[in-house]
Amino acid sequence: MSEFDLIRRYFTRATPGALLGVGDDAALLQASAGNVLAVSSDMLVCGTHFLPNADPFMLGHKTLAVNLSDMAAMGAAPRWATLAIALPFVQGKETSHECPHPNPLDETTSHSTRLQTTAAKSLVTPAGEGTNESLRELMFTVDEAWLAQFSAGFFALAQQHGVELVGGDTTRGPLNLCVTIFGEVPAQQALRRSGAQVGDEIWVSGCLGDAALALAHLQGRILLNATEFAACTAALHQPQPRVALGLVLRGIANSAIDISDGLLADLGHILEASQVGAEIEFDALPVSAVLRERLTPLNPPLSGGKPNSSPDKTTSHSTRPSKDDDQVAGYDKGRPGGVELLKQCILCGGDDYELCFTAPAARHAELLNIAARLDLPLACIGKVVAGRGCIVHDASGNPLNIEACGYDHFR
Ligand code: ADP
Ligand code: MG
Repeated sequence: MSEFDLIRRYFTRATPGALLGVGDDAALLQASAGNVLAVSSDMLVCGTHFLPNADPFMLGHKTLAVNLSDMAAMGAAPRWATLAIALPFVQGKETSHECPHPNPLDETTSHSTRLQTTAAKSLVTPAGEGTNESLRELMFTVDEAWLAQFSAGFFALAQQHGVELVGGDTTRGPLNLCVTIFGEVPAQQALRRSGAQVGDEIWVSGCLGDAALALAHLQGRILLNATEFAACTAALHQPQPRVALGLVLRGIANSAIDISDGLLADLGHILEASQVGAEIEFDALPVSAVLRERLTPLNPPLSGGKPNSSPDKTTSHSTRPSKDDDQVAGYDKGRPGGVELLKQCILCGGDDYELCFTAPAARHAELLNIAARLDLPLACIGKVVAGRGCIVHDASGNPLNIEACGYDHFR
């Protein structure tokens, strides 16, 4: 199959919203009256952002989802995208046994950990220096079945959000996926990082930490049971970009960002751009039932602690699971996957793709109504204060040591 057949078959769809789509030297796009273009690119690199054996349908979804998330964070309506893709493409299916790409849900932890290690190694180790495994990774290929699945995942999400693929570039090379997305927003209503005001409340959509928790499991840093892993893995492989929320936040939020690198890092960008500080309540951070249950030992009941004791309706500390702490895998601080790791997932874990935004306290009730209307939980997690930096309070009001939790890792 030629490059052009490949583009035609897998990446060409009708583009009624563009003046010109795939097939010429450039697409022609016209923003609707009163709008400017919001433009953003995000690249997913094999071995850095995903494992070589990632499920291709979910990968297609995620490749677009991370870009849609940037549109959401700007309050922009996504319209068009281009896709630049490097493919280790091999004709036919005869090579697929070299490096199968099973559904990641079927993987064992050790298998995927090994893949992660060797895939990362293959990016830095010249051919010939690696083990048999890293050589195998270098030979990783995709075939037509892979392309069909990738394309189906990409276009399923594109259709859901009314996004048209209007162009791109296709080349042979180590698997690399780069989308540029184009959205529309009235210039004055774009949500910027720089608009946070002292006194604003800080909000987060959805739940934090599930994607990082699933990744920690795949890397063997924590052991989740099958039910827990099943609940978290969708957050990692199929994040839902909060486009509808971004649109309704126009005229309400003073600043916004999407959480791709972890809450503290991304909120940190808002604080820096707005030259303000923040105070966050750890207990107000929205987490899934899986994380909530695992964290509950942080808040032991004030008395008793008898298994299955009837819940005390007057305190929020009463929902401790009745199981023996020792049976909660990884709870022990001394063991891998302890409470520190859970905190790290929530505060510093990447790949959440939720929105973090600030809004005047006067809009609080309105935001709760929006949450109900969108059927998307919104949690008020703290407030913007004068000064610099972010303080996270624990349940007793003491500041958490967030340096120890990975904040500032790269500075
Ligand atoms: P050129 O050589 O002029 O850059 P190409 O041969 O790279 O053009 O691409 C031909 C057409 O196919 C262009 O319109 C380009 O935008 C489109 N295209 C190439 N790769 C992709 C892709 N992966 N997805 C969508 N469109 C693509
Ligand atoms: Mg080209």
